[in-house]
Parts: sequence; C-alpha cells; structure tokens
Amino acid sequence: MRVAALSGGVGGARFLSGLVDVLDPGEVAVIGNVGDDVEVLGLHVSPDLDSVLYALAGIADEERGWGRSDETWNALETVAALGGEAWFRLGDRDLGLHLVRTRALRDGTPLSAVTADLAASLRIETRVLPATDDPLRTHLLTPAGRFAFQQWFVARGHRDEVDAVEYEGAGEARAAPGVLEALETADLIVLAPSNPYVSIGPILAVAEIRLALARRRVPAVAVSPLIGGRAVKGPADRMLQRLAGGTSPAHVAARYEGLIDALVLDEVDEAGAAELSVRPIVTRTLMRDVSARRRLADATLEAAGALT
Ligand code: GDP
Ligand code: CA
Repeated sequence: MRVAALSGGVGGARFLSGLVDVLDPGEVAVIGNVGDDVEVLGLHVSPDLDSVLYALAGIADEERGWGRSDETWNALETVAALGGEAWFRLGDRDLGLHLVRTRALRDGTPLSAVTADLAASLRIETRVLPATDDPLRTHLLTPAGRFAFQQWFVARGHRDEVDAVEYEGAGEARAAPGVLEALETADLIVLAPSNPYVSIGPILAVAEIRLALARRRVPAVAVSPLIGGRAVKGPADRMLQRLAGGTSPAHVAARYEGLIDALVLDEVDEAGAAELSVRPIVTRTLMRDVSARRRLADATLEAAGALT
C-alpha cells in the first residue's frame, strides 16, 4: 500500500517511524513542513524535515525528543562564549547536516534535491519531500506582536497566545517536485499527529497541495495530536482552544474540513466521536515506544482499508 503522509517534526516523525515499520519504507512518501525553517548562524535549518530524517534513519534522540542521538554541544558552547547567536540549540552532529544543506542551497540546489541527497546518504528508503522549494515561513500574531515561528516557539518559549497564524510566501509557493505525484499515486493519504496550525497548516497553505487533497480519489485519514483534549507536547491544545474554540476531536477534524475522511482519536476522547462529521477511529494513540507506534500505524492503515 502506497502512503503519502503530511508531517511536522517530532509528533509526525514518531508516527512515521511506526508507519515504515509496518509497511515497506519505500511505499511511504513524506510531505514535510518547511514553515519552521530558519536561518541560524548563517545556516539553513529545516527542523521538521530533520526530525523526520533523523527518526527514519534511527538516529533521533528519543530522550530529549528532538535532534540527534549521541549529540555533543561544543560548537554551540563556543558560539555562546564568543557572544554569538546561541538561542537556537544546534548540536555538533546536527550542525554537520546544516553545513552540507546550506552549501548545497547556496550552490543553487533546490531544497527538495538537497533533502533527497541527505536521505540517500542516511540510507533512508522513504521519500522525504519538503512541501515546497519556495520560501514559506510561518508567522504568529500575538498580543505581544508578530513573530517569525522560531522567535515565538524557541526564543519566547511559545508563551504568547496566538491570535492568528500567517504563512508568508504561501500564495506564491508551488508544491515541490514529487509532492503532487506522491499524493496522486498514493492508496492512502495520512495527516500525521502534528500541530494542525504550525505543522500541517503550512503544508496545506500551498494551494496545489490543498487542491490535491480536496480532489483525492483515495481515503485521507488524520491522526489527532491531542489526547484527552491536551497536546502530548507543545502548544497545539492552547492554539485550538483560542483559535477554534475547543480541543475536542471535532475541533481537530474541523481544521481539515473537506480534506479527510476519518480521524484517528484516542480512547479517552471516545465521547467526542459522536460529534464528528468524518469517521472516527478510536484507538490508543500515545506513541510511548516502538510497539505503540507500530500499533497506531496498524490501526490507521486497517481503518483506512475499511474506507475504500
Ligand atoms: P514539531 O514540529 O516538532 O512541533 O512536531 P509536530 O507538529 O509533528 O508534533 C507535535 C504534536 O505531536 C503535538 O501537538 C503533540 O501533541 C503530538 N504528539 C507528540 N507525541 C504524541 C503521541 O504520542 N501521540 C499523539 N497522538 N500525539 C503526539
Ligand atoms: Ca515544527
């Protein structure tokens, strides 16, 4: 079964590692968020694509929850000691990847080609595609002002409530090479349990991608990132509460109106299944370990099979 999966960083990457465990990794194409991308110390960092690459290569740091395993921080400590830009945490091994990517981008290689090369070097068989090669950057409007994504998320610790989300550049952004083909040739489209506003939102802000989903001829299933109405990590629950008026499964599904046929939700949220206008798939959705990830992937695929 060929699957195209829209994904943000950590939550998405965890889900994808389960998906490639139960499928042939070559059957999965990931369409990743680039709205978080940021220039740090002159380097182009794509945090969500990298979370996916590291997870699929089996080199993600499970304890910290982001970045690479076996990481050291010598470069960043030196940067800090020299009074440089040290607010964004980049480990030594991680920096190596950013150096290679930045060099290639400066030589004129598109992000999609750079990402494919990185994936190949990491021996990843799954296609990892940025949603777009064009500049698309998420900005947040908050009571304290307008912030670029990482300014809000990392520098300010996402403490500001969000009144609106803007996807700068989305109007002109084209889908990256391979993205529309992946959506058109998939047997199933999955929206990973990623933040609907700042991970999946920027991907769907690319008109070609949204249209491909709206016109799909195969089932599309979203996995909720909320358990008991709360985000496992991060600001998704606070954002949904303030921007959509609640954190029930119906509030999550409404983010993807017309774009999904089913929502995978946690057992603890089962009461909310009745309000859904798409098919509910109730299962345990906490991806605590490898077997929980596999189980969630299996439940998603099984339910999707029933939709066709
Ligand atoms: P980011 O780009 O690194 O912030 O990651 P994502 O947007 O892909 O994922 C963040 C979302 O993942 C958060 O809203 C979490 O609630 C969700 N998440 C993390 N772990 C789990 C889990 O075990 N189960 C579910 N259902 N969601 C999770
Ligand atoms: Ca992200």
